[in-house]
Amino acid sequence: MKRLGLIGYPVAHSLSPAIHRAAFASQGLNWSYDLIEVRPVGLASMIDRLRTNEWAGANVTLPHKVSVIESLDSLAGSARASGAVNTIVNQEGRLHGYNTDIAGFQRDLRQQGIGLGDRPALLLGAGGAARAAVHALTRKGSEVTVVARTPARAEGWVRGLSTTEGAAIKLRGWDRSAFKDCRSDVLIVNATPVGMWPHGEQCPWPLEVELPAEAEVYDMVYRPPQTRLVRRAREAGLVAHGGLGMLIEQAGLAFQLWTGLPAPMAEMRAAALAELEVA
Ligand code: NAP
Repeated sequence: MKRLGLIGYPVAHSLSPAIHRAAFASQGLNWSYDLIEVRPVGLASMIDRLRTNEWAGANVTLPHKVSVIESLDSLAGSARASGAVNTIVNQEGRLHGYNTDIAGFQRDLRQQGIGLGDRPALLLGAGGAARAAVHALTRKGSEVTVVARTPARAEGWVRGLSTTEGAAIKLRGWDRSAFKDCRSDVLIVNATPVGMWPHGEQCPWPLEVELPAEAEVYDMVYRPPQTRLVRRAREAGLVAHGGLGMLIEQAGLAFQLWTGLPAPMAEMRAAALAELEVA
């Protein structure tokens, strides 16, 4: 018996327990996966508990993906480069941090047929998920503009990524002009929690600004499956994607890191869809 869990605040919206419990059951593993609601002040002591033998590791979600790093012993290249961790593996008391959001996002872009070509990307948000997305997009050669509510918090990592990746990353404040100035074929990626259950009426794209005429939208929020942003985009005739595919891909990669087994992707997807239906 091994323990795993999702450490965040809040965590009640998460599909991860359903996804991972289904994966463990399908592989005959008697492992548990729980929601672990931890406020920032309790993070370091919770992370320290993961060092005991009963824990295989954990997932980390908002708002801890960046701050958790100082409590870990080592970082995989993806976590170091993006400055964010969403998966921890406990190896005999040493905690290793990984970022499976990056590859999860890349895989889902591929599966949904979202080509980047030479079009720019507009990234809404500057937290842990945004860092993963910027890292993935710049590696594909995309020119990225980050729109942040608190630009001062993003300046350091945007500068760092621009230097290490040699990429053109612009940073703008959360004002109307940032939404109006973009190219008409931009890829818009929402990496804020705006629109997430139970605030499904909210939309990160200002209501008074039209979506660009040839834009494509990727909303990392997966609950509800069709966010207000996705609905707006589809109503405007645009192609729009929710975050469920990325969620399942990043979960599959985390499962492999913890267990060393290939992830049962079909079972994981079915469990996520079943959980969304009962909600
Ligand atoms: P995070 O680290 O807390 O970052 C959230 C970012 O959103 C911050 O930059 C924050 O700005 C900004 N923000 C929050 N409320 C805002 C508002 N009302 N207006 C403008 N900006 C706002 O969270 P995260 O881990 O990056 O996650 C962000 C979202 O992505 C969550 O909904 C999460 O569930 C989703 N996500 C999905 C997947 C997936 O697999 N589909 C993976 C990762 C994350 P401040 O710095 O000013 O607070």
